[in-house]
Amino acid sequence: MDKHACRACRGSAGHLVLDLREQPACDYFPRADDPGPDPLYPLQMWLCSSCGLAQLLTDPTVPEEPRGTESAALVAQAADAVERVAAAGLLPAGGVVAEYGSPHGGSWLGLLAARGLVPADHDEKPDVIIDCFGLMHAADQHGALAGRTARLAPGGVLLLQYHALSTIIRCGQWNALRHGHYAYYSTTALTSMLAAVGFSPCTAWQFDLYGGTVLLAARRDLGGPNTPDDVVRSLLADDARAGVRDPGTFARLQREVQAHATALHGWLAAEQSAGATVLGYGAASRAVALLRQAQVDRRLLPAVIDASPAKQGLRMPGTDIPVAAPAELAARRPDAVLLFVPDLLAEVRAAFPEVETTGGRWVDVESLGS
Ligand SMILES: [Zn+2]
Repeated sequence: MDKHACRACRGSAGHLVLDLREQPACDYFPRADDPGPDPLYPLQMWLCSSCGLAQLLTDPTVPEEPRGTESAALVAQAADAVERVAAAGLLPAGGVVAEYGSPHGGSWLGLLAARGLVPADHDEKPDVIIDCFGLMHAADQHGALAGRTARLAPGGVLLLQYHALSTIIRCGQWNALRHGHYAYYSTTALTSMLAAVGFSPCTAWQFDLYGGTVLLAARRDLGGPNTPDDVVRSLLADDARAGVRDPGTFARLQREVQAHATALHGWLAAEQSAGATVLGYGAASRAVALLRQAQVDRRLLPAVIDASPAKQGLRMPGTDIPVAAPAELAARRPDAVLLFVPDLLAEVRAAFPEVETTGGRWVDVESLGS
């Protein structure tokens, strides 16, 4: 194999820090009657020794994915974020904004328009660029960041939102690693990436989304880097405590893979032995690697419920478990519903009260084995 070059700094020194071996593309949902086997690709995280960016090592071609439904948690976080950025004076009324969104959906443009910001025309230089989980989808990290910053008006602000690597490490979220997500940012690595394009962070905001999400504001360096505020400094200190640049830190994450998989398989087998009916909820990418690692098939988990109409009639990649519509919750009256996306808990409890009124319970998959 050719030596990997860092997606940000092109450096070749680094470590393979997380190896999930062969996995199906997590957004390749075959039809439910497609017997497989599904194509498999190595799924590995590499940590750059030079700039510190944690990144996807190999880059298989990833098929188009069914767009998911935007969760209420994501919508609420966007409103909260826009409120907080505006309070900091970074959203000038009449300012021009450009958005680099996530292919998974969700846009802040409506919220920003309500505050008087105007979407940029094609060749117009935006005062504000918002990138909400967009940058991670670029295979060429340096090129994507340089493209954004080159567009920004002088004095403009770049707002980058990312699921923090320190969260992934602390919470053992090994299944955040997926094909199509090329980078897993720490504030430390982003600071280095920004420096390479003449930018530096000035402030940031933290959110509970996905266990810990950061929105970082950066500006062009004018006669030296910007002075980071207390929030940025505390994020950098927190990165250092979490060990985001230390390959040794990730050994725990690698151990979590087997521990989590064993716990899930054991729990499902115990529920089955007790005669309980269990369904899954949330046909998300992170469920794919987990179900495969745990070797769960439809005998243990007969269906994964998902609200996205685009996923109806399909099955989970890499296993024979079909995706089913939420109506199945009332029809099958499960004793337990295993929630693969813990951020959805409040939302699904409210949306599907029949689960609990018929004696069932919601179980956070992250809570198994911890
Ligand atoms: Zn690098």
